[in-house]
Amino acid sequence: MSEKNTDMIRHIRHLILLSGLGVLAAIMTISVHFLTPEPVIKPKEDKKEKVDTSQYPDVTIVLDPGHGGYDSGTIGYSETKEKDLTLTYTLAIGERLKKLNPNLNIVYTRDSDEISWEKDEEKDLIARVDVAKENNADYFLSIHVNANTNDLEATDYDFFVRQDDKVSQAIAESIIDNLQENGWDYESFILDVANYPLYVVSDQDIPAMLYEIGYFSNPDMEQVLLKDETVDLIADAVAQAYHQYILEHDEKSK
Ligand SMILES: [Zn+2]
Repeated sequence: MSEKNTDMIRHIRHLILLSGLGVLAAIMTISVHFLTPEPVIKPKEDKKEKVDTSQYPDVTIVLDPGHGGYDSGTIGYSETKEKDLTLTYTLAIGERLKKLNPNLNIVYTRDSDEISWEKDEEKDLIARVDVAKENNADYFLSIHVNANTNDLEATDYDFFVRQDDKVSQAIAESIIDNLQENGWDYESFILDVANYPLYVVSDQDIPAMLYEIGYFSNPDMEQVLLKDETVDLIADAVAQAYHQYILEHDEKSK
């Protein structure tokens, strides 16, 4: 046999061996396939990476559910009380804020139907502002629901801010953006509190905002506002807006 032929045989042997290995691999793959039990459907793992929130700002936000106790506020189309809806929404906002940034100090002017002040409309408003002052609040947000018995069609949502309070104006714009991104198509206004007697906003020197989430004198909007999904949607939009603003503008322990 010539050198060349020996090489050829070696080459063929090599090929046979390789294809043999290939067949073996194929058999193993098939048998593994048949031997492997059907995969059990695992519950979806939360793939979100744990965010390190330790350096997030630790500012104080006072959340104020409008009305409460002796004061029901306005009344919805089907007799819903404003004070109940404002409490639901405000607590939901606080809960989400705390989840986004555990360092936040969330203070509620009330967290139930009980009020800690006198049954007097003027003292009531002063007491809410006092909560902000006593706690050295960095932000103040009051939640209300609008009613207009002369216009049952009204559906807009409004933010009342001071002219000089660019912070609340920016946060209000961000809330509107967040809401619109999630299909909340109602009309919105950012209004100057100078034209409205809103003590809880005008008598403060911190960013303070009163947010009327919509009209529950409108029967359709009332039903929408009573839905859990709407509470989630609005609470998320508000919490995200404050959270982002605080991350971008505040420092840990001022
Ligand atoms: Zn109100």
